[in-house]
Amino acid sequence: LNGRLETALKDGELVPWFQAKVDMRTGAIIGSEALVRWNHPVHGLLMPGSFIPLFERNGLVVDIDMHIFEQVCMTMQSWRLRNLPLRTVSCNFSRLHFDRPEFPRQLVEIAGRYAIPHDLLEVEITESAIMKNPEAAWLRLIQLKQFGFKTAIDDFGSGYSSLGLVQMLNADVIKIDRSFVQRDLPGQRAQIVLGSIIRLALELEMAVICEGVETAEQAAILMRLGCFKAQGFYYATPEPENEFEARLAMQIS
Ligand code: C2E
Ligand code: CA
Ligand code: CA
Repeated sequence: LNGRLETALKDGELVPWFQAKVDMRTGAIIGSEALVRWNHPVHGLLMPGSFIPLFERNGLVVDIDMHIFEQVCMTMQSWRLRNLPLRTVSCNFSRLHFDRPEFPRQLVEIAGRYAIPHDLLEVEITESAIMKNPEAAWLRLIQLKQFGFKTAIDDFGSGYSSLGLVQMLNADVIKIDRSFVQRDLPGQRAQIVLGSIIRLALELEMAVICEGVETAEQAAILMRLGCFKAQGFYYATPEPENEFEARLAMQIS
């Protein structure tokens, strides 16, 4: 994989798939997350888990992230031209971007190339990436916000994050890690913890979305705890662009 990345990017082998984020009360699509897939000519469809860690180690993940972001902007432009409803799309970014002062401006430049309003683009950064270098994360997130992009803390609660982090970072969205939903629910103690995280986030005026919702029971508990946004197989799996488009086209307005 290693020696071929540049060619693969040029040949369009790495593409974003889209997973819907929904309002659990109505099932309406409120946005989506772009997740990279590699259509490898020999190995077939590769999932990010099989190559992202490799390219995190040699730094090339930066090129992958920027490529996917550009593909997303290009796709959104085509949705707009075809009058499909535009919703926020989030992209994943490695912590390696924290050390790149040019990162926020690059996003501005790419979004501008396709005339995509910044508030329709969301930058997802994992809690573990933030914990490795909170000051650098803080600085980049502020810059991104100043440019009008949305920011999200991904995998929240997966490690030992402190609640102080939430206060300091002032992100727009908290994405609650799927381990809470899948491993810990319907446990009583888990519900108490989850309920307080949800209330805390909402009081700080951050949106909360739960990842990994796979059953109606999980959805019902989350709604009872005050969270109405979800991403998970119960609602939709990640899909290639054309399939997600068909889903978007079924939305009213
Ligand atoms: P993530 O950002 O936490 O993305 C969510 C992952 O959870 C996706 O796996 C998605 O398919 C999976 N998922 C969604 N709903 C459910 C569910 O209900 N149940 C279960 N069991 N899983 C669910 P995927 O696509 O394999 O991506 C894995 C990870 O790879 C992502 O985790 C993200 O950390 C990373 N990744 C994906 N695309 C990119 C990218 O463009 N750049 C970077 N740097 N990392 C990426
Ligand atoms: Ca993510
Ligand atoms: Ca996540």
